[in-house]
Amino acid sequence: MEKTSLEHIVSLSKQRGFIYPSSEIYGGLSSSYDYGPLGVELKNNVKKAWWKAMVQMRGDVVGLDAAILMHPRVWEASGHLEGFSDPLVDCKKCKKRWRADHLLEDKGIEPDFRPGTWEKHNMVCPSCEGELTGVRNFNLMFKTFMGPLEDSANEIYLRPETCQGIYTNFVHVQQSMRRKLPFGIAQIGKSFRNEITPGNFTFRTREFEQMEQQYFVHPEGKGDIFEMWKELRMQWYKDLGIKEENLRFRDHRPDELAHYAKNATDIEYNYPGLGFKELAGIHDRGDWDLSRHQEFSGQDLTYFYQETGEKITPHIIETADGADRATLAFLADAYDERDGSDQSKHDKEVVLRFHKSLAPIKMAIFPLSKKEPLQKLAKEIQQKLWYNYMTQYDETGSIGKRYRRQDQIGTPYCVTVDFESLEDHRVTVRDRDTMEQERIAITDLPSFFTDAFSV
Ligand code: ATP
Repeated sequence: MEKTSLEHIVSLSKQRGFIYPSSEIYGGLSSSYDYGPLGVELKNNVKKAWWKAMVQMRGDVVGLDAAILMHPRVWEASGHLEGFSDPLVDCKKCKKRWRADHLLEDKGIEPDFRPGTWEKHNMVCPSCEGELTGVRNFNLMFKTFMGPLEDSANEIYLRPETCQGIYTNFVHVQQSMRRKLPFGIAQIGKSFRNEITPGNFTFRTREFEQMEQQYFVHPEGKGDIFEMWKELRMQWYKDLGIKEENLRFRDHRPDELAHYAKNATDIEYNYPGLGFKELAGIHDRGDWDLSRHQEFSGQDLTYFYQETGEKITPHIIETADGADRATLAFLADAYDERDGSDQSKHDKEVVLRFHKSLAPIKMAIFPLSKKEPLQKLAKEIQQKLWYNYMTQYDETGSIGKRYRRQDQIGTPYCVTVDFESLEDHRVTVRDRDTMEQERIAITDLPSFFTDAFSV
């Protein structure tokens, strides 16, 4: 198996406690995944890094956590009830279901579903070459019922994107936080889409997490703001260690723009086994969202410039990142192998070279022996460090083996407590990437790690 294949990442994720198939004891649920003990740390760190860059370190963006369940009229106004659908075809022979646009794209044909167009291409089932049905549009929203009565009056939807909660709160936030244009509202949360063809691990699932930011602007000069966010979002991935050659921009063609979009660019990542695919998007949504909510709610969602007396419906530049696709990209990109050491039985050893701020475990503490005085000191050191860091304690196997275990999960530092430590109150700190070892006084560990993690 190729080291960078998606199957390799899937099996490593399961073995090392990053991502498991959901409800596996019942045979699993298609395209549903659970983040294990290390996966939840990694994904939380991705979300924290996003929040830090998008909210904490900006004076012009504030946060929000809106409800998943919203008033059904929201989805009429947003266009999702009418237009959020994918073109679907079924194979009449093997009954497999396909996205018609994907089938055309795979043959290098630009998707076009005007009447009579699909039939012209004589497409057959890629799996059994059987005849395909005509194209039907399938709405991607998950429907459920509010309250005990399962009738149409009580139908509601699980949100298919987080941004609508931002639009419906635009006036609340602007007024309560006394914001002036331009300003942004950021939110992280779950979204749900009944995707026809989910798959490729956590790349496309039906339940996923989004990290979205809506920047409200005056239409004049919004092109520069669009460019600014494009560059900032790309730089964020690079700063967190994704290799430059695995990232690229892809501008949307005018005919593939979503119904609300005036301009859109994807940031694509070169996913193992999949090639370059969408990781995030930057969209100029114009004034579509606020105008529509204004029309459907009857509320005034305009913005008034006190200095000039001008009243406008703000335009929106959106940055939309997927927490799961980002986590998968960071995991895949961190994967590395180095030659096995003398003590190792393997030719190659796996190292996950996560950026320090993303690594699930920041440091592991090892007593050289399981004997009492070393064990006690090692645990004391761990209990000082765990106030600020995720740590692991490991006392089994040789130190070399313990280093390898930590390399495989991407822990940046290992701290070994040996017999000398009892005398000189110093420990050995080993760096994952340089493999260099340094003797450091136990009392200096907090400041050593403060410096090491202030990156
Ligand atoms: P795609 O074209 O791949 O279906 P999209 O253009 O519909 O994605 P957006 O609506 O722009 O995606 O959503 C913003 C981000 O949310 C995407 O860039 C992606 O990271 C994430 N995302 C969207 N759909 C899914 C999904 N089904 N599973 C996991 N992440 C997703």
